[in-house]
Amino acid sequence: MADINLARQLPDVLSIPHACYTCSTCASRCPVSGIDGLDPRQAVRMLAYGMDQELIDSRFPWICTLCGRCESACPMNVPLLKILRTARGLRNRDKVPGPIHKGVIMDLERGNNLGIPQEDFLFLLNDLGYELEDEGFPGFYVPIDQAGANFLVTINSKEPFAEPDDLKFWWKIFYAAKESWTVPAVHWEGVNWALFSGDDESMRELVGRIVANMQRLKIPNLLLPE
Ligand code: SF4
Ligand code: SF4
Repeated sequence: MADINLARQLPDVLSIPHACYTCSTCASRCPVSGIDGLDPRQAVRMLAYGMDQELIDSRFPWICTLCGRCESACPMNVPLLKILRTARGLRNRDKVPGPIHKGVIMDLERGNNLGIPQEDFLFLLNDLGYELEDEGFPGFYVPIDQAGANFLVTINSKEPFAEPDDLKFWWKIFYAAKESWTVPAVHWEGVNWALFSGDDESMRELVGRIVANMQRLKIPNLLLPE
């Protein structure tokens, strides 16, 4: 079971209620303040009153867009973004809203958020490469696992799944720029939903897979188009 004590997750949290003087700068900068009663100051007050579990169970952390405007504007450096994202991470995984936790598990187990089989993915890229060539880009193809390329290009799985033609926008730019690039054959997912679910361990694992691809193929630059 998750450690629900935010104070143990955030070593500096005990000083937060004293630091905050309820100036409201955070609330005025927050783009979703007021939606379902979200008020960043209230999250701070909940910690002050030991209402960690109530904050974790509330909708506040999930209404928050994790934009960080509140935290960067706070004159007292209260780590609001960290508080809200940590609260997300402490929610029981089967109560994480929407599909994002399922996507994290799918990515960990099958290499991308939507579980697209590798064979289908590679077939699609090959096919799209032929299409683009026919559309006026002679000699175009999608380089897969090309060692020594300048850019490793990750892909949002929603594109091969539902909007494959959107992949061509970047490819046309690469073609025009004569850029050296490649897509990894495995672990090509470019959207890390663990960032949004507050799951640091999975986020680290998924980032590590991209880094491993860069090291394996000796590629110096990364493109995360999402
Ligand atoms: S901006 Fe900082 S000090 Fe002001 S209310 Fe928000 S958390 Fe408190
Ligand atoms: S990080 Fe969340 S609470 Fe802070 S300003 Fe952005 S949406 Fe609002």
